[in-house]
Amino acid sequence: MIGDPAIPPTDTARGLDPRRGARLDIDLAAVADNYRRLRDQFTGKECAVAVKADAYGLGVAKVGPVLQSVGAKTFFVATLDEALSLRFILADARIAVLNGLSEGAVDDYLDQNIVPVLNHLGEVKAWSRIAAEKGRTLPAFIQLDTGMARLGLEPNEQARLSTTPDWLDGIEVLAWMSHLACADDPSHPLNADQRDRMAKAAALLPEAQVSLCNSAGIFLGPDYHFDIARPGCALYGISPTPASANPMRLTVRLSAPILQVRQLTDGKSVGYGASFVTDRPMRIATVPIGYADGFLRSMSNRGTTRVAGHPAPIVGRVSMDLITIDVTGVPENLAQPGQMVEVIGPHMPPDSVAELAGTIGYEVLTALGHRYDRHYHGWSG
Ligand SMILES: *Cc1c(COP(=O)(O)O)cnc(C)c1O
Repeated sequence: MIGDPAIPPTDTARGLDPRRGARLDIDLAAVADNYRRLRDQFTGKECAVAVKADAYGLGVAKVGPVLQSVGAKTFFVATLDEALSLRFILADARIAVLNGLSEGAVDDYLDQNIVPVLNHLGEVKAWSRIAAEKGRTLPAFIQLDTGMARLGLEPNEQARLSTTPDWLDGIEVLAWMSHLACADDPSHPLNADQRDRMAKAAALLPEAQVSLCNSAGIFLGPDYHFDIARPGCALYGISPTPASANPMRLTVRLSAPILQVRQLTDGKSVGYGASFVTDRPMRIATVPIGYADGFLRSMSNRGTTRVAGHPAPIVGRVSMDLITIDVTGVPENLAQPGQMVEVIGPHMPPDSVAELAGTIGYEVLTALGHRYDRHYHGWSG
């Protein structure tokens, strides 16, 4: 159910937890809308979701139930530990572990109904042997390496499996899956190459569904879709189409109150390393967000915050717990201690932070700190 739809404006420090510095607002209705958007775009059978790394930093305990209530059935995480935590939150979802079968913990998969993604023939044989020992059929995704060279059966293993299908005895193959290396670059020739390898491999292997697309893959078009998609980043507002406008909704806002404001004369330095020097009289405000909160140090002297709607550039180094911003252009009565500063928001979404910091939006989100006062909006029930 959609409740309070919008993240409230962050103009004042009202409602701020006095024990904490910065505030992170997360819009669960936007996550739900993003899921629906991806599902509508996808022409295959099932839109699964990637919720590894605590739902890309947003908090899987909140995001998981929202995704389930808008129709997600299969949840991909990276580790068995993440899967076991998620099982407490989603009792009846299909939960799959991307990083493979941890053989020392087979009972956890069986007891908690966790599905491994089998990434090499050794894991396939082990799962088949366990199925025989338990006298049951056990479900698994089986990953094929079609060009990522990271996880999955290599071409020679794929060929051996297709000529020795009894190695799959006792395994219910939920899908043959593979992962695209360059889906965010539609012009990259590896995309079509991986798609064709996938189609060929699946045709030689026993009949099962096929899963290829991450978020960006869905936007490569229906030729890439096959049966099951596994979007992650786009659910959380990261653009799956970096070359054109972002079709997804922003899900996070990061803000914090001004702690102090000081008037500096011409020629004064600000922060560690004296990396910024005033070239005129300037007003500088200090805000409690730092690299220990996941606000990357490479944002030093880059990017612009908003103070009551007015731009205020980040000046000086990002320190562990603080940034400094230039509020010279903000009316003096607004740039005062307690005034909220919006650091990540519509004016500077995670993808823009990433571009300025020389990284990708995924890293900006997954780095979001645990010191923030987190507020979830847009969802009740
Ligand atoms: C993380 C991951 C996804 C999701 O990718 P996005 O680019 O975030 O949509 C899908 N499949 C695999 C194997 C992954 O590791």
